[in-house]
Amino acid sequence: MTSDTNGWRQATRLVRTGLARSPNNETAEALYLNSGFVFNSAAEAEAAFKGENDVYMYSRYGNPTVTTFEERLAALEGAEMCRATATGMAAIFSALACQLKSGDRVVAARELFGACHHIVAKILPKWGVETQFVKGTDLEAWKAALSTPANAVLLESPSNPMLDLVDIAAVSELAHAAGAKVIVDNVFATPLFQSPLDLGADIVVYSATKHIDGHGRCLGGAVLGSAAWMNEHFIPFYRNTGPSMSPFNAWVMAKSLETLELRVERMSATAAKVADWLAGQSQVLQVRYPGRSDHPQHDLAKRQMRGFGSLVAMEVAGGKTAAFKVLDSLKVIDLSNNLGDAKSLACHPSTTTHAKVPVEEKLDCGITDGSIRLSVGLEHPDDLTEDLAQALAAAS
Ligand SMILES: *Cc1c(COP(=O)(O)O)cnc(C)c1O
Repeated sequence: MTSDTNGWRQATRLVRTGLARSPNNETAEALYLNSGFVFNSAAEAEAAFKGENDVYMYSRYGNPTVTTFEERLAALEGAEMCRATATGMAAIFSALACQLKSGDRVVAARELFGACHHIVAKILPKWGVETQFVKGTDLEAWKAALSTPANAVLLESPSNPMLDLVDIAAVSELAHAAGAKVIVDNVFATPLFQSPLDLGADIVVYSATKHIDGHGRCLGGAVLGSAAWMNEHFIPFYRNTGPSMSPFNAWVMAKSLETLELRVERMSATAAKVADWLAGQSQVLQVRYPGRSDHPQHDLAKRQMRGFGSLVAMEVAGGKTAAFKVLDSLKVIDLSNNLGDAKSLACHPSTTTHAKVPVEEKLDCGITDGSIRLSVGLEHPDDLTEDLAQALAAAS
């Protein structure tokens, strides 16, 4: 269903793709806030249910506003097909569940978003799927895990919250040799800065709740891949289990895609400035930003990313007490576990998003009591560094 992009460049695709005007010729994308559709005849309904004509039947299967969002995102990603889901987790779970059966094997990077970690560690094994975690940055660990046949690989790069990278091309090659499909959670990089399908991955998943909405309004997700894989595995699962996105959310998301490039480029430029500023502060023990040459995988970041994103991780001196004092002293930056918002947000991963991860595992991932994750928004960079300066001073 990917519409013709007419050879358009990215900025044009983000505004123009998927635009299907109604007979009223509205300028902006129409919002089709409806669950069902009317057939012109019983014969047309019969043909639709046989799959003989391509009409909308029911919004769980498809809706014109949702299609607009899906086509726009597919054009940006360079994917043959996209399906929008109610949340990012619905996208990730469906992408796994649609292709796995009892007796299958999944290899995943251990540096995953908490709920993704839960699916791999707790839900899939309950259904007879064997799962194994590897340290995402360690290619030898991937090699060892994928020396045994596998069905799916799940990874996130850069990872939450410490911004570790996985070599997507190298892992995809190993995974394919083991018989596995590679699913990449591309939330932190956004479709602007990393194209996993071009690097060899098979399926890309998003939480559209983050940069794609970008204004903290709607939950949403997306699964993108080849038409062959989507039609064989994803579509039957999606139509029958119902993780669909609501037309209203799709309308918000489609309009947000128009400004994605402007927002994410600005947020990332500001994030780079904030990261450099933080690195010069005596109370900051460590800064993690893939765009800085002191990031342990900076060379890989330059190889597989076109930009470095809006998230920065730092470790402040003084552990949890100091980190809490910094967070409680912020006046511009809000405390929130959300990210990718126009408003800058900060959180303490160790006691929030990663509270359930065992201490040794947290430390192994670099998450300490002093770690703070910063999602940089659209405020002026100087207002952010001034806010951080007064908060760091309050904590020292
Ligand atoms: C937020 C997030 C998710 C989950 O998405 P929801 O929209 O909250 O369901 C998955 N992966 C990453 C990396 C995320 O940041």
